[in-house]
Amino acid sequence: MEAAECVKVAVNIRPLITPELLNGCTDCITVVPKEPQVHIGSHTFTYDFVFGNAGLPCLEIYDHCCAPLVDALFKGYNATVLAYGQTGSGKTYTMGTNYSGDGANCGIIPKIFKEEVFDLLDSNSPALLKNDGAFFSSYSRSHAIFTITLEQKKISSSSSTMTEDAGDDILCAKLHLVDLAGSERAKRTGADGMRLKEGIHINKGLLALGNVISALGDERKRKEGGHVPYRDSKLTRLLQDSLGGNSKTVMIACVSPADTNAEETLNTLKYANRAR
Ligand code: ADP
Ligand code: MG
Repeated sequence: MEAAECVKVAVNIRPLITPELLNGCTDCITVVPKEPQVHIGSHTFTYDFVFGNAGLPCLEIYDHCCAPLVDALFKGYNATVLAYGQTGSGKTYTMGTNYSGDGANCGIIPKIFKEEVFDLLDSNSPALLKNDGAFFSSYSRSHAIFTITLEQKKISSSSSTMTEDAGDDILCAKLHLVDLAGSERAKRTGADGMRLKEGIHINKGLLALGNVISALGDERKRKEGGHVPYRDSKLTRLLQDSLGGNSKTVMIACVSPADTNAEETLNTLKYANRAR
């Protein structure tokens, strides 16, 4: 697999939401028409895809970012979709982690279930998607990781019975769908004590993730068999088998367009830019 296609980075700009509109917030991001490029203040960044704010429609996120990974999964490649961004930027909305079955908010996870994997699960499985907190927490200070492991057995078309090396014909692959904890700086949340410690810990995980993805995107480093710092955090150790190597990774950086969030939005855009 080409280095260029092993990590893709998308930016998803959600619309201004009611509380922001009521507070008189204005848009601080512009998308260059028909280009995956954004301007904020004096900065310009280019990504693989830009969704929202008159870039590609948000409804196309699945088609551009996830469908290729689901295809790869069926071919035996591991894959990871990561939603990164500050709390309130639209990560959960984009991943569909809070999907309640009403069809109103149809993010990535419900789409995968409906279109691709549903048949492979037993009849009780849709309960997994119920928003009862048993599987997904909406707590912004934790990572929610949803993993699909796919095992395919090759069924011989000949009439002969299974041979002893049939085990070789089992294709196993994993898809991680990750709704990361809010990326906002610990200091800005005004947290102290336990919450502050937790925040620092999360930032460490996100920093390690950024370092891993950036090392993977660095073709020179990859060719020289350079060090990819997976072991620097629990998060990167957990995702190790689905980041780099033969696997495909898509990071969706979620941002609010509100001027009041400009500082965190710029941090997210820089993080995403480094990942590419
Ligand atoms: P996060 O998980 O990053 O904290 P959420 O996904 O909870 O953020 O989104 C924050 C708010 O913005 C929610 O009220 C959500 O419904 C709204 N929102 C997010 N993305 C969109 C979108 N593309 N269109 C409309 N509303 C959105
Ligand atoms: Mg969330």
